Amino acid sequence: MTKLTQATNTARTRQWESVQRFDSAEGNVAKFVYEKLEPETGKPAVVEAVLYKYPTYAERTVICCSTQSGCPMGCRFCGAGDYFMRSLDSDEIVDQVEHAIAQTHTNPDDIKRLQIMFMSMGEPALNQTNVAQAIRTLNTLYPKARLLLSSSAPDVPYDEIFAVSRAVDSVGLQFSIHESTDEARDLLIPFKKKMNLKKIAATGEAWFHATGRKPFFNYCADRHNSTNVDADRIAAIFDPRIWEATISVVCERGEGLPTRNEFQLALADDFSGKLLARGFNTRVFDPAGQDDIGGGCGQLWYVQEKMEEFAGAGLAKPSAGHGKPLRHTPCSA
Ligand code: SF4
Repeated sequence: MTKLTQATNTARTRQWESVQRFDSAEGNVAKFVYEKLEPETGKPAVVEAVLYKYPTYAERTVICCSTQSGCPMGCRFCGAGDYFMRSLDSDEIVDQVEHAIAQTHTNPDDIKRLQIMFMSMGEPALNQTNVAQAIRTLNTLYPKARLLLSSSAPDVPYDEIFAVSRAVDSVGLQFSIHESTDEARDLLIPFKKKMNLKKIAATGEAWFHATGRKPFFNYCADRHNSTNVDADRIAAIFDPRIWEATISVVCERGEGLPTRNEFQLALADDFSGKLLARGFNTRVFDPAGQDDIGGGCGQLWYVQEKMEEFAGAGLAKPSAGHGKPLRHTPCSA
């Protein structure tokens, strides 16, 4: 029995044939599930976007949107990690954001802090042309918005991400590292063609020199990876003069398990302190809506169900992580 049975409305958008909305009991987060059939092929696609207010939309609005339907990276903490369908075109990405902003019933020009994150489902670096085009369009539509790309670091040229980051100075770049060794990261992110930690560090430094802005790394602190030894390893690879650190509170990818507790928050706070002591600027990320609508990134409950259904019909491909052990961990992408 899924928790996601309480869709409160349905609609359609320019690009998506149906939209279902799920509201968190916390009252500050809504999830949208978009679906369509390709007119030419009849193949389905499903994506999610999440809309947060802190504490009002006018004060601060955050939108996480998807860049692919499913994801080939196969991360073992992520609800999108088992199957991949296809990359989205730029308008399918932009449309999620336009739709979510319309749901705020707030003039985007009146939103003091608007953040658009490419981090719900999909790996932006594997869909760079369309993501870069979407960024350019969104920057025109919402010139005050911050646009944050979050990547799990597939080993591909980042040329288009660098180019759009140079052209649009509100673009930020974050790499999900989540572990302090390449061996541990291989278990978490089974996609083979990915950068190791040193190459991520070098790519982020190159981005810093290309844009003048600091990149972020994102680290999900759990009981196995949050020691002083882990903090030392990270500080040896990532230069705190270049990098900012995001420490994410882990959230559970399955629906039937407790998603968040004080222990997990304390772990994240503690590890944040360890990195602070090693010279990093840090922030702790604890997304709302984890308990009832899968508001934490990587939860993607509804999509997990749909992907199973599509895979059964031969319409979704297993990812690099399919069938590998799951991990109770992060909010990433
Ligand atoms: S965490 Fe991001 S990169 Fe990894 S499987 Fe999920 S959507 Fe893909």
